[in-house]
Amino acid sequence: MTREKLRVGLDIGGTKVHAVAIDALGEVVADLRRPTGYGTDAVLASAKAAVVELARLAAVQPQDFRSIGVGIPGSVDAEAGRVANAVNLGVADLALGPQLAAEFGVAVRVENDVNAAALGAWHLVGFGSPLTAGASRSMAYLNLGTGMAAGIVLDGVLWPGSHGTAGEIGHIPVDPNGVICSCGQRGCLETLASGSAVARQWPTRHPLPVVEMFEAAERGDALAIEVRDRLVVGTAVAVRILILSFDVDTVVIGGGVSSLGMPLLGRIRATLDEWAAESAFLAALDLSDRVEFVPEGSAVAALGAALAGDPHRASRAAGAA
Ligand SMILES: [Zn+2]
Repeated sequence: MTREKLRVGLDIGGTKVHAVAIDALGEVVADLRRPTGYGTDAVLASAKAAVVELARLAAVQPQDFRSIGVGIPGSVDAEAGRVANAVNLGVADLALGPQLAAEFGVAVRVENDVNAAALGAWHLVGFGSPLTAGASRSMAYLNLGTGMAAGIVLDGVLWPGSHGTAGEIGHIPVDPNGVICSCGQRGCLETLASGSAVARQWPTRHPLPVVEMFEAAERGDALAIEVRDRLVVGTAVAVRILILSFDVDTVVIGGGVSSLGMPLLGRIRATLDEWAAESAFLAALDLSDRVEFVPEGSAVAALGAALAGDPHRASRAAGAA
């Protein structure tokens, strides 16, 4: 039996690089986390070291990998493999794809981290592997991390839009009297429903402000209830926008805030049901049945990066192989 070639996925975040190697079925066969350096040279070095270490774990040489996919925050030009304005990483502009390809002699694809995670979520919720599936289903992955953004997957293929902006729904203004957002607009959805929105409204030294805020709300703390309800309603608004814009089969929610699990999901569904009770139009759309969370503890971002890394993925998804 010839050994199949593994695909590598790197999820490069502000504190760590999560690297996985997957087989042809999308199963993770090697997995590691290492700290991310700060600044262009350090980020590149972290990525290279992760690939080398992963090869050692998988008992192969780095050049034996089939492909390397990278999910990274910031403005990503996926065609050129460049990332710009990754503020948390201290990267102004980096030709990450060409650099990794030159180092290892392997095809490299770089995607925005939310778009990469969307492919991982597609796989994990059982829509089939983008590597093999031709299922004509559609999904929006709604990431509730520090910010809010979505990745759109249609028939197993990412749809980034004409300028890579599709799914930037966190910057849809919903409150004309709201606070100024990091993007310069006022009252963006992200200022109500995201990790940074909770941290701003619920200052604490707790490592997970959203968890502490939810517990305080359960105990009846008035401010916590206000902050929680803004988070819940803002997320429900995002689900409604994604379904009304793209009519996706499912909205899958992930990111740090989603670690709250059922207490949050139950409230989002209840809010969608309240709206449905007042609108026959919304009721017909079954919004609350079309929202779910990523499986707990799953590595959507790194897995998705590995799936994104295959240069032939799009044609195979369409049934070409
Ligand atoms: Zn904004």
